[in-house]
Order: sequence, then C-alpha cells, then structure tokens
Amino acid sequence: MKVGKEFTFDCAHRLPFHKGQCKNLHGHTYKVIVEVEQPDNEVQRILIDFGDLKKEVKAVLDLYDHSLLLGGTDAQDGELISLLKSRGWKYYIFEFDTTVENLSKHIGGLIKSRLQSTGNHLDKLNFGLTIKMYETPTSYAEVTIK
Ligand SMILES: [Zn+2]
Repeated sequence: MKVGKEFTFDCAHRLPFHKGQCKNLHGHTYKVIVEVEQPDNEVQRILIDFGDLKKEVKAVLDLYDHSLLLGGTDAQDGELISLLKSRGWKYYIFEFDTTVENLSKHIGGLIKSRLQSTGNHLDKLNFGLTIKMYETPTSYAEVTIK
C-alpha cells in the first residue's frame, strides 16, 4: 500500500554541461510527489500521518526553496559564489549537476533519512519511498529508495 502527498518549490539553476537552452540560468516550479509504501498486511489503520509526512518533506524542500542551485562547474566558481554571498542571495551547492534525475535521488534520500529518524507511525526499517519530481508540467524523474 502507498500513501502520498504533493508539494512544490521554486528554484533557479542551469546545467553547465548542456549544449542547448538548459545551459542558461532559468527557473522551475518543481512539483514533488512523495509516496511512502509498506506491505498491505503491515498497515494498521494508518501508514503515516499526512501531517508528519508534510513536516518532514517541507523541512527538506525549504532548504532549497527560492534559491539558486549550483552544480557541475558552477559549484567550483569562486567568483560566482563570492558574488552570491556578498549579495546575500540564497544558494545551495551540490556535488553533482542539478538535473531532475540527480535532484530527485538526493532529495528522496534526505526525506527517507528524516522519516527514519523522527517519530511517526512508520515501521522505520521496512518502508519504501518513491519520489516523482516534475521539472516542468510534462517532464519528470522518478526514483524509489528502498
Ligand atoms: Zn532546468
């Protein structure tokens, strides 16, 4: 059985390696669908309180909301990072290119860790988490973290 919840957050990014439009700085409203799964016979009344799920997912997404995501060669661009610091703009540095594939894996892992370490109804050792992350209304990546 699965239960899920939908979220959105806004970021700017670019893909330095990209040959087309994505090399330019642009923004997305990412839509994130987080699903938590347990075997049907292990669900007693409630799989996870939707309020708990919201709290833990928001704590992760708020790290990035309304920020500039720096990845690839931008993550080593000292001049760019100094400028962002001096302006007080929110940014976040990743050790990978900020593709929706990489972001969904990373964000899914963080959410799973939070759900494992905080109090909720879940059997912390035995649940799967699937994250489906839309970069545009029609383009997404989906990953399941076992
Ligand atoms: Zn993009």
